[in-house]
Order: sequence, then C-alpha cells, then structure tokens
Amino acid sequence: MSCVVCIVAFPRVFLRRLDAARAPNIANPYNKEGMAFTEQYDVVVVGAGHAGCEAAMASARMGLKTALITMNMDLIAQMSCNPAIGGVAKGHLVREVDALGGIMGEVADAVGIQFRLLNTSRGPAVWSPRAQCDKQLYRVKMREVLEAQPGLHIRQAEVVDLVLEEEAGSAQEMDAPCLRSAADETGDEVPAELPRPARPHRRVLGLKLRDGRNLLAGATIITTGTFLNGLIHCGEERYPAGRSGEPASVLLGEALRRLGLRTCRLKTGTPPRLDGRTIKWDMFEEQPGDADPTPFSFRTKKIVQPQVSCHLAFTTPETLRLIRENVHRSAMYSGRIEGIGPRYCPSIEDKIVKFPDKTQHQFFLEPEGLNTHEVYINGMSTSLPMEVQWQMVHSIPGLDQAELLRPGYAIEYDSVDATELDRSLRVKCMEGLYLAGQINGTSGYEEAACQGIMAGINAALWLKGEPPFTMDRTEGYTGILIDDLISKGTNEPYRMFTSRAEFRLHLRIDNADRRLTPHGRRLGLINNEAWGEYEQKQARMAALENLLIGSKVDPGKLAAADLGELGTVAGQTWAQLLKRPEVSIESALIALRDELAIQPLLAELTRLDQDPAVRRAQLRNEARAVETEIKFAGYLDQQKKAIEKLKAAESVAIPEWIDYSVISGLSREMREKFERVRPGTIGQASRIPGVTPAALSLVHVSIRLQGAGRMHATSQVNATLSTNAKVG
Ligand code: FAD
Repeated sequence: MSCVVCIVAFPRVFLRRLDAARAPNIANPYNKEGMAFTEQYDVVVVGAGHAGCEAAMASARMGLKTALITMNMDLIAQMSCNPAIGGVAKGHLVREVDALGGIMGEVADAVGIQFRLLNTSRGPAVWSPRAQCDKQLYRVKMREVLEAQPGLHIRQAEVVDLVLEEEAGSAQEMDAPCLRSAADETGDEVPAELPRPARPHRRVLGLKLRDGRNLLAGATIITTGTFLNGLIHCGEERYPAGRSGEPASVLLGEALRRLGLRTCRLKTGTPPRLDGRTIKWDMFEEQPGDADPTPFSFRTKKIVQPQVSCHLAFTTPETLRLIRENVHRSAMYSGRIEGIGPRYCPSIEDKIVKFPDKTQHQFFLEPEGLNTHEVYINGMSTSLPMEVQWQMVHSIPGLDQAELLRPGYAIEYDSVDATELDRSLRVKCMEGLYLAGQINGTSGYEEAACQGIMAGINAALWLKGEPPFTMDRTEGYTGILIDDLISKGTNEPYRMFTSRAEFRLHLRIDNADRRLTPHGRRLGLINNEAWGEYEQKQARMAALENLLIGSKVDPGKLAAADLGELGTVAGQTWAQLLKRPEVSIESALIALRDELAIQPLLAELTRLDQDPAVRRAQLRNEARAVETEIKFAGYLDQQKKAIEKLKAAESVAIPEWIDYSVISGLSREMREKFERVRPGTIGQASRIPGVTPAALSLVHVSIRLQGAGRMHATSQVNATLSTNAKVG
C-alpha cells in the first residue's frame, strides 16, 4: 500500500528507480545462483578519470544516489599525460562544462600554475584558455570536491562484469551479443546480414566487482579511458597496463566485447619526464604565463597559486639522427602496434618520418607541479626503447646531464564505436548503459569531461523519467563532439578543433555561460549563488551594451583614449565606432569613464587599470564579450540564418520504427549506412559520411509514408477489436 502511495506522490521521478530495485525486496531483488546485491545505487559510474568525475558529480547534484567506482582512489582525476587543461578548442570545452555546472574549470583554476589565453592575435572565436596545472594538487582538489558532494559515494574496486536483465525479465550476466561485432569480423565493414531495426533491448541491472560484491544500479556509466585491454609499448618491451604503473582492465574489456558492441583498437603515447634539478634552465627560452590570468570557470574570482614559467626548446641534428637510425625499434614503426594513434598529437618519431625535410622540432619543458622537480617534455611523446630516449634527451644542449624520471611509452587500448550510442550517450541496444570519455574514441581530458557531464545528466534524467538533455552543433562544441562521434564514429583518437565548428563565432569562450548556464540551472547543477552572479553579469553586459549604443562620441575625449587620429566621428555612437577594427573596448572604456562612473552596475569598470583588487580578468572579459557582439554583429546575424536552416533539418526526427529495408530506391550501401548509425534526425543523417542528398530525400518521404502505413494498420486493428467487442 505504501509503495503505491509513493508512486502516486512522485509520478515518474522514482518510477525507474523503483523498477530497477524491484522493490520491496531491495537488498536482494533477484537471486540467481546465489547472487545478491550488496549495495544499491541509482547511478554507478565506473572510472574516476576526467569523464567519470564529471558524470558522478552531475548525477549526485541532480539528487541521485551515486557511486563512483575506481581502481585506485589515490589516482582520481589522474592526468595520464600532460598536466595541462585547456588549449585551443579544448578550453572551449572546459568553459562549456563549467557553464553547465561541471567542476573541471574550478579545479583547474584552483591548482593552475601557468595560465595563458591562446590565440589572442586572432579573432575572439578562437581565443582559448590553457593552464599548466600542479598534477598532484589537481588530484587532491578533485577528490576534495567529490568528497564534499552529498549523495556521492566513492569506492575503490575493479568492475569486472555487468549484470543484465533481458527484456523478457530474466536476469543474466552478459553472454549473448546484441549485435555481432562488425569491426572484429570484417574490419570496418558492416555485417552482410544487418540486424533488423529492433535489436534485443536489454537492461543493465548492476555490476560485478572483482572482490565478489555485486552492485545494483538504476543506470551505469562506463568511463574507463585507456584501461580496456590496455597494452603498453616501450621499444621492444610490451606488457598489459591501463597506464604506467596501473593494471589494465581486462575482464571488463572482455565483458564489453561479449556484449557485441563494435570496438576499435586505438593508441596514444606520452613523453619521458625529467628531473628539473638536472636541467640547465638558462639555456632555454623562458615562456612566462599571462600577467593577468584568465580563469576557466565563470565562478572563479581570482587565480591564487604562484605562477611559474615553461621553457621553449628545440631538437638538434643529432636528435633527428638518433631517431631516424632507431625508428625501426619504435613500437609504432616495428609493426607491433595495431592501434591507430592521434594524427594531431604525433610522437616525435612520427614527426620525423612524416616531415623528413624539417631540420628541427620545437618542444616545451613544463613543470609538473610546485612541490616536485618533475618536468614534462611537451612534444616528445615516444615509444622508442629507453636507451634511445636517454640518448635523444641528452642530444639537446641544456639537457645533456638531465636525468630521466619516467620513460615515454605508447599504449594501445579498446574503444567502443560511438555509432553504437544515441545523442544522450546511451548504448542504443541497452537500457540504462551509458559510455563517456576515451572509451568512445576521443583523446584528451576536456573531451572526456564534456562527455562525462552529459552522460551523468542523461543517466539522471532517464532515471527520473524525463527527456534527455542534448546539444546540437549550433549550441556548443560539446554538441559537435557528440554529433561527430555518434554520426561518424572515429577510427583514430578524436580531439576537438575549432575548425570542426560550422558557427564558431557563435561558440565563443566568453558566451558559453549565456549558451548553457540556463540549462545547467534548470537541470539542478547551478546553485543559487552562481545563478545570482550569472544574472548580475548579464545585467552588467546589457547595461554596457546600452551605454555604447546610446552614447554619442565626444571628440574631446578621444585623445585621452589614444584615438586622436580617428578622423570624422561626428554624430556617431560608441557602438558604431567600435565596428572599426582599430577601435577597442579598452579605449571606449577610457573615453566613457564619466558615464560609467555614474552607473552602479558599471562603476567597477572605471578601476580596471588602477585597482589590483578589482576582478580584472573577469570584468575585462565581460567587456570584450560585449565588444565582440557589437563588432561582429553583421557576421553573427548572417550565421544566425544558417543556424536556423540547420536547426530546421535537426527538427525533422527520424522515428525509431523506420524500416530502411523497405525504402524503395535506397541503395544497399545507403541502407547499410543508415542501419549502422540509425540517425535520430534528418540533420544527423546528412552528416553520415557518404550519405547522398537523394538518399536523404527518400528517407524524408518514407517517414511520412511508413507513418501513414502504421496509422492505417493501427486503425484497422482498433476497428477489428471494437467489432469483436460488440460481437462479444
Ligand atoms: P581516464 O582518465 O583514463 O580514467 C579512467 C578511469 O577508469 C581510471 O580512474 C581507472 O582507474 C578507471 N577504471 C578503468 N577500468 C576500471 C574498472 N574495470 N573498474 C573500475 N575502474 C576502472 N590526451 C591528450 O589530450 N593528449 C595527449 O597527448 C595524451 N596522451 C596520453 C598518453 C597516455 C600514455 C595516456 C594513458 C593518455 C593520454 N591522453 C592524452 C589521454 C587522456 O589521458 C585521456 O583522454 C583522458 O584521461 C581520458 O579520460 P577518461 O575519463 O575517459 O579516462
């Protein structure tokens, strides 16, 4: 009786949770071969890397009891490679995660030891923040943030299997594939006999841990990074590992293969690390950070860590000779590695083989933290044997005495073909199973984090019985990344570039909050304080824009703003003047000082240059965002029209029931492409590589035809039923 009351009182919100738990016998909802669930959660996240931390945090903040299971709790949010967050396009992703209410930006701000705003010599669309972080502090801070979150339970364990429930209701461990692994059997080919649209839907009920425990989970998010069947290569040596010093995840890798998901073998690599005390620093060009650091998070007021410099260095002819002579010993070139590496983050041996005419290659010496002497060699990723790495490093003046603390290595691992996922990152043929991060074929902490928050949000929404939260290509780089992955998959580690965006002037770092924070607020990820600050910021920006639009230029004040040479300005407003490339918002703020001072919302802007206590970076960036909107208003309007066109294609949904096999005129090749991806919209279908406009219009027409056929069939069934009822 009380159970019924619960369901009535909380319609939908708890339905899936109750369903998952098979209440009332929650502690042991079913018993097969003595299996009992020892712990019960709404959401279980497997892996506490960059995807897992965001996923678990989002789910817990949305009010769901969440477990974060990881192999080693001391290595939560470990930066497997470079201890840096952000960079071109990656910084955009961090801003988007932050705008939605994620944690990567705030953690990086708290432990960043060198901040740089990249690409400032180019347009605002491609400005992007980057921070060298203290690697150890990043882990510590992330764990602190996670541990402070109510409803989030961190557990150290290895997940070895999933527990499934068939649609029919019988529980079992995974053994029967839901789809033959196409990649396994035919390389990249789709199996000749494609599955019919309705694949057997199964539900993930929980997880098996290596220590014998079984966890009950309403939804499961797998974020296992490079660990699935990971294999490290260092010269001629190779051994199973998830990353250096950590075991591979072999049993879970096998379990996912048995599930029948299409998989791919990828690889990535990392450079050797040096002891900074053995580097002759004065022989390298110093590269300091920005004097006025730009934080990642919209909620960070100030960067507090002491800032350090990186150093610029170059290979020598001797380095190149050593690499050329030993390249056959690199795991990459000896044929021992099957996996495909990141084209845009090549190893040093890759660079030398692919660009034989280049006489030198640049790299950076980057400190790994404030309390360590360890130094990362950015640009020297390698899988050459250790003794060659040693010689290579020593061939560079200033590193001739350097001690190697850790060798560089390459790692191969399994990833899942992301065309197996829908836009909410749910595995299409499974109920309650989500994948995020490197497991989906991406590379990079930021690419992982943005998927993590989306998977966490969507697992929570699904359990609450609410529609998924998805982003299209016009709303964020996160939307672009997910759309690319689920529409095309990837056969090399996917990383984000600004060139992947069709409308990059719209997807700037400065407006990520305007694009996404209202969503974060609605989802429950933005607290009252942050929301209040967001609203104040929008009010400040609107006030500044109105001032610029409404204020006529006073020629007498131009000289003080270094704008004495502008020529005729009579009758123009500041907004009109700002459209000239030589006029900047900084000059406008100087000339408008008196007007700013009398507006309570804007008075702080008058102290930007004098008062070190002012939130300088924050206010300056707000003013620049207003400037961008004014300066590029023409382009932005043009792009808005193109965005509307794309959104129109996105709004034509392709129903799940569509049967491609009966669309007459559709070639076998097109049918296979549609079956493989099963796109959700005509827009997504148009982005499947090789899909023709003719095939698209056939699908478009078939949606109506097949829909009409289904309605006809339904009405006939209804008519028969009512006749039978009357007869009865
Ligand atoms: P990870 O950060 O790898 O986290 C995976 C988590 O899953 C870990 O916490 C692990 O303990 C846990 N886990 C795994 N299996 C299980 C299990 N069965 N049970 C419980 N927990 C489990 N990115 C770049 O952008 N540039 C680079 O140059 C670069 N180089 C790299 C070099 C190396 C050698 C490696 C290993 C990675 C490199 N990366 C690079 C990639 C970057 O580290 C990843 O993209 C990022 O960490 C992926 O985040 P993730 O959350 O998906 O997985």
